Amino acid sequence: MKRDLYDEDHEAFRASVKQWIDRSVLPDTDKHIADKALPREFWTEAGANGFLGLSIPEEYGGAGAEDFRFNAVINEELAKVGAAYPTCFGIHSDITVPYIVELGTEEQKQRWLPGAASGEILTAIGMTEPSGGSDLAALRTTAVRDGDEWVINGSKTFITNGYSCDLVITAVRTDPERGAKGITLFGIEATKEGFSRGRKLDKVGMEESDTAELFFENVRVSDAEIIGELNMGFIHMMQKLPQERIICSVANIAHAKQILVETLQYAKDRKAFGQSIGNFQHNKFLLAELFTQIEVAEAYIDKCVAAHAAGELTAVEAAKAKWWSSQVQSEVLDHCVQIHGGYGFMNEYRVARAWRDARVTKIWAGSNEIMKELIGRDLGL
Ligand SMILES: Cc1cc2nc3c(=O)[nH]c(=O)nc-3n(C[C@H](O)[C@H](O)[C@H](O)COP(=O)(O)OP(=O)(O)OC[C@H]3O[C@@H](n4cnc5c(N)ncnc54)[C@H](O)[C@@H]3O)c2cc1C
Repeated sequence: MKRDLYDEDHEAFRASVKQWIDRSVLPDTDKHIADKALPREFWTEAGANGFLGLSIPEEYGGAGAEDFRFNAVINEELAKVGAAYPTCFGIHSDITVPYIVELGTEEQKQRWLPGAASGEILTAIGMTEPSGGSDLAALRTTAVRDGDEWVINGSKTFITNGYSCDLVITAVRTDPERGAKGITLFGIEATKEGFSRGRKLDKVGMEESDTAELFFENVRVSDAEIIGELNMGFIHMMQKLPQERIICSVANIAHAKQILVETLQYAKDRKAFGQSIGNFQHNKFLLAELFTQIEVAEAYIDKCVAAHAAGELTAVEAAKAKWWSSQVQSEVLDHCVQIHGGYGFMNEYRVARAWRDARVTKIWAGSNEIMKELIGRDLGL
């Protein structure tokens, strides 16, 4: 079925994204895996091409693009390379930077947005703590008032881009008595005294993305570093999470679709019992089912992206997109591994890495159980 989400402008933009990927990303993917991180040149080249901070207004060095479909195009193309790429990219461009664009003061915008658009300031979002991620309202990192300043103590974990970021939008408890209404977001620069990071965490997949623990030991910040309003951090995060979930959903389906297309080719090329393995009725029907699953999921995600571009996507629709897309992604990739036989279990085959990479998408950005909790509540349960 022809997709109607994108027009000629989006496709022209897609062509330029692909050129950048072919030229600057694909030649280095093995190195990214070995380094367990993307190098700074990845970011500065993306910035030089105008791909970072699409939503950053032109006056702060961004593209000032209002149409979210362009963001979706970048994430789709990066997902075809590997699931970690849209993850790192999305955390910066589509998840963290919008907090500054939409909630930042003029001073914060001038200080951070030009660097975020050029790739010289890499951002991360610090919500999850060792004690828990699903129950955000229970976070324990504290900021205590001391004169004109706040003194922050605590830690965050599983932070994407955490090892290499320059700025972390960090959720911190500013009022111990008020639960969800006592959380504030601070923009904390990595050069701050008392800020440190652990090693790059050793993950089951997504090697190319750096993921780290962050530590805050008497880190002093002022009111000028508060993002949005004091004690409104939880509300701010709830307002921003639908965009995080929809951009993850876009990447989930694009990633699985690409590997499925490669698997179809493998099924045509690989012979057993004198014929292509794709011709065995089991595999033929299986591939028919998998393509149907992907296209049906893609149609829903496309509708969500269009709704989000129009400012109409609800949190519940985003939750449905997130859990469903990650479920479909996992199921499809598991079958793709099976179709590859033993080669499907070899790291040198993209399908093996893709299968490992995909496992986390049911856990992060709000676990699928939390997504179903949100949907269930909307059903009046
Ligand atoms: C590779 C990676 C990158 C990440 N990047 C970031 C990042 O950049 N920034 C960031 O802040 N976080 C990040 N996370 C954290 C991620 O968002 C959390 O792991 C996730 O929210 C779950 O939190 P948790 O791991 O503490 O699990 P827990 O909250 O301890 O949950 C454990 C299990 O219990 C289930 N559960 C919890 N509450 C309920 C409930 N009410 N009903 C039903 N089931 C429930 C969960 O679904 C899960 O299955 C990342 C995680 C990973 C693995």
